[in-house]
Amino acid sequence: SNANLYVHFQKHFPTDRNRALLRTSEGRNVSYGEAEQTSARIANSLLKLGAKPGDRVTVQVSKSVENLCLYLACLRAGLVYHPLNTAYTAAELGYFLTDAEPTLVVCDNQAVTTLTTVMPSASVKALLTLNADGSGSLMEGAAKESNTAGIAERVGTDMAALLYSSGTTGKPKGIMLSHDNLRTNAQTLVQAWGFSAADHFLHMLPIYHVHGLFVALSCVLMSGASMAWHSSFSDQAAITALPDCTVMMGVPTYYTRLLNNPAFDSESCRNMRLFTSGSAPLLTETFVAFKNRTGHSILERYGMTETGMNTSNPLNGERRAGTVGPALPGVTLRVVDDAGNILTNGDIGNIQVQGANVFAGYWRMPEKTAEDFTADGFFNTGDKGFIDANGYLSIVGRAKDLIICGGLNVYPKEVELVIDDIPGVLESAVIGVAHTDFGEAVVAVIVADGKAPSAEQVIQHCKTQLANFKVPKRVEIVTALPRNAMGKVQKNLLREKFPV
Ligand code: ATP
Ligand code: MG
Repeated sequence: SNANLYVHFQKHFPTDRNRALLRTSEGRNVSYGEAEQTSARIANSLLKLGAKPGDRVTVQVSKSVENLCLYLACLRAGLVYHPLNTAYTAAELGYFLTDAEPTLVVCDNQAVTTLTTVMPSASVKALLTLNADGSGSLMEGAAKESNTAGIAERVGTDMAALLYSSGTTGKPKGIMLSHDNLRTNAQTLVQAWGFSAADHFLHMLPIYHVHGLFVALSCVLMSGASMAWHSSFSDQAAITALPDCTVMMGVPTYYTRLLNNPAFDSESCRNMRLFTSGSAPLLTETFVAFKNRTGHSILERYGMTETGMNTSNPLNGERRAGTVGPALPGVTLRVVDDAGNILTNGDIGNIQVQGANVFAGYWRMPEKTAEDFTADGFFNTGDKGFIDANGYLSIVGRAKDLIICGGLNVYPKEVELVIDDIPGVLESAVIGVAHTDFGEAVVAVIVADGKAPSAEQVIQHCKTQLANFKVPKRVEIVTALPRNAMGKVQKNLLREKFPV
């Protein structure tokens, strides 16, 4: 049988293909049938340009209905979808294009000149355009093609997509995701989060990243649900759209922005059954404020580009703030020390996972792949955390952000939680910076409201709660923490900005 992910999506498409797949924020309705026909036309045109199954299609375009159909077209043609953040500059694009060696490139009209100069001319057979409004050569070519197409035969291990990690800790890595990786995780999430054809999903996430592209879209397409489709997040637009919706997925900043808007209330959520959060840690304050405002407990889950989703707070059962829940069905989760011994008493260690969701390896980086997998086949996530007696995982930060001060480990999260409790502090980021005496010194960067505490008050408070080596040597007050598009705090930028 054909392991192509599209075949598995199609099994869940409504029998009546006139049923809605999505409605855009401009009021355009797209049925399942229309998405099928449009993706068939695009698939036919990509194949006609000479792309062969397994070839990469690099896509740097705005989020649009046509972009979604292009993703589906790549799946059904057996081509490897390779999306790129629209924010990337020419220099960055050169790295991705040279590394991915695509056969086809799709970009906005405005990016053609830039892309042409950095494109690996040996591999690229055609450069197509797709603008935010759907215009451009991609759709012009597709319009001439038949609206039916076969679905390429794929085996489960064939690559369906090449996604690069967010680049939070270094140069983004190419991650090979197979049809089986994506299918198994999608099936797990539909079950775990109770998706059905009755759901109407608020989709405001970008679709160049695992969160909006796989977590969100797979749940919809694997259950025959429908979407309110927005090209980006806005709290005002969310408040207007939410009353018709049943599920929303977001990064933590979406939820803090909704809470900052006084028009957001329980009435806005009258048909909602589920809010999920991920890609970055959700503060307990946000979880609590959201519950107080709306009655909903945000369901926090944990995943990454390499693995899709690994753990989730339960749909039915206790959702615990500050945790990312137990392992999802089919995922084996463990925490080990640096020597590889499994830790069982709630001790902090390296988070490792195994399961059909876990990728086969980094694209063209065999050494990095070998380094990140253990001898017994677990993937070392690079995140640090601990598992409590009920199996709930808490993340304390990334291994790369661990601070070693005078030979002792300081987990940034522990210090951040203490600082966040100080009245006037809105949020904080604790980093380690090079220090001649201690190796690394703890520095706290805080965002405060009008009643900001002084650096001395922060240090005094920490002294009452933490061992001396964990107490910040220095406190910086800023108006906002630097975050990327997925709401991740860019600690590398803070380390550059505040050397000791
Ligand atoms: P790079 O690997 O290039 O440094 P990245 O790890 O940020 O970038 P992604 O794959 O987009 O790239 O993000 C996965 C990471 O996001 C996880 O390893 C984890 O650190 C973080 N993350 C995801 N969900 C959560 C969560 N609920 N709480 C805390 N951290 C999370
Ligand atoms: Mg990563």
